[in-house]
Amino acid sequence: MTRPDSMLSIVIPVHNEADVIPTLLNRLARVCRQLGTATELLFVDDGSSDNSVALLLKARRRYSDIRVLQLSRNFGKEAAVTAGLNHARGDAVVLIDADLQDPPELITDMVAEWYKGADVVLMKRRSRTGESWVKRMTASVFYRLINRISDAPIPVDTGDFRLMSRRTVDALNQLPERNRYLKGMFAWVGMPTVTLEFDRDPRAAGKTKWNYLKLVHLAMEGITSFSTRPLRIALILGFLAAGAGGLFGTWEVLKALILGVSTPGYASMIAIVTFLSGVQLLCVGLLGEYVGRIYMETKQRPVFILAEDSDDRILDYQPTLKVAVNDQNH
Ligand code: UDP
Ligand code: MG
Repeated sequence: MTRPDSMLSIVIPVHNEADVIPTLLNRLARVCRQLGTATELLFVDDGSSDNSVALLLKARRRYSDIRVLQLSRNFGKEAAVTAGLNHARGDAVVLIDADLQDPPELITDMVAEWYKGADVVLMKRRSRTGESWVKRMTASVFYRLINRISDAPIPVDTGDFRLMSRRTVDALNQLPERNRYLKGMFAWVGMPTVTLEFDRDPRAAGKTKWNYLKLVHLAMEGITSFSTRPLRIALILGFLAAGAGGLFGTWEVLKALILGVSTPGYASMIAIVTFLSGVQLLCVGLLGEYVGRIYMETKQRPVFILAEDSDDRILDYQPTLKVAVNDQNH
């Protein structure tokens, strides 16, 4: 099964994961040994404020195939993963969370599928142990909604845990958008895909960095970055409301002219006005979401800023030495 000439990159976004890093490293190291191919463990530190980076850099002295990219601040997981995909050197790249919710041992099976010719090996959750039913339900509603309105369907119950071949990663790296909704981008790129099922473990330690507000934001991102259909829905709503209003008005005028009956109705008036202004505000807000995204895209800012790359560093680099030399020149 082994292919000695190929290299595998394992990209791991890290944000304050010091509690799990020792276990993670042990389990990953064991998997890498079994794989028998060259591996690169590419950790992307997304502005951690604990000692995650120190732990990783220390481990790097023992396992030389560890590489640590440090972003200049916390940019969010999507940006961290993007940084990893941009810098990975492998012939295939595995994306995995640091919190051990995605068991590293499964990488062996993923690689086997890749050797058999798959470009993408998707890991589908059979169960979501340790996640509340509210989270499961909202997730399911969201997937159903987004797949209704977007062109490239996003597979249900899959996260970022996956293997991608070099050409898939290259394709992904070409997508220029700043608002990175990765799940949608993966789906858009396509490529021959094999899906494996797995049981998602609860977080090994620490706590999730997602809250509901962030999830709503991500959902909005997902919907607006992959479909303009909501705009059309707004248009249709407008047509329907205007049509109904017109018909109702005509009917009232005719009634007054022919039958001489005029209906008083402040209450219904207020109800209609409130409802319609609500619909209008909603549609304007929706437009705003898209305009806002266009604005962000036009700024052309990079998705992440890299502060340090452990591979660029001379191992025993000592900043104090440099200062001392400069002082002598003065
Ligand atoms: N993460 C990150 N930046 C962030 C938040 C999270 O790089 O701003 C990483 C985190 O360290 C973990 C992965 O993204 O490796 C998934 O995060 P988390 O477990 O909090 O999300 P959940 O599994 O609850 O969706
Ligand atoms: Mg997690």
